[in-house]
Amino acid sequence: MANPRKIDLMHKLYGISAQICGDCCNYVSELYHDKKLRKCERYGLTHSEASDWKKSAAACGMFNVPMKDNEAPVIRTVRGERIKDGPMEGQMTLCE
Ligand code: SF4
Repeated sequence: MANPRKIDLMHKLYGISAQICGDCCNYVSELYHDKKLRKCERYGLTHSEASDWKKSAAACGMFNVPMKDNEAPVIRTVRGERIKDGPMEGQMTLCE
């Protein structure tokens, strides 16, 4: 799978709704080591700035749909697909 922007991936998977992410129950905003972290719990909670989420982003179709205990965040699925797909073109493997 290509590496679309995170919110684009959420729109692709779940569609777009008329609200904004900042009003969604899955939007998390907390202080961590004096830094404000903004994340989408459905996409995945990491400490990386790469998964920071824009409060003003157009909401996806999972707006205000809480995560169930047995649901995996999207980031895990994406990582799983990358592993299944094998190395990217031009990328070396451990055997090379
Ligand atoms: S689940 Fe909520 S916070 Fe996450 S992308 Fe969808 S609308 Fe935004």
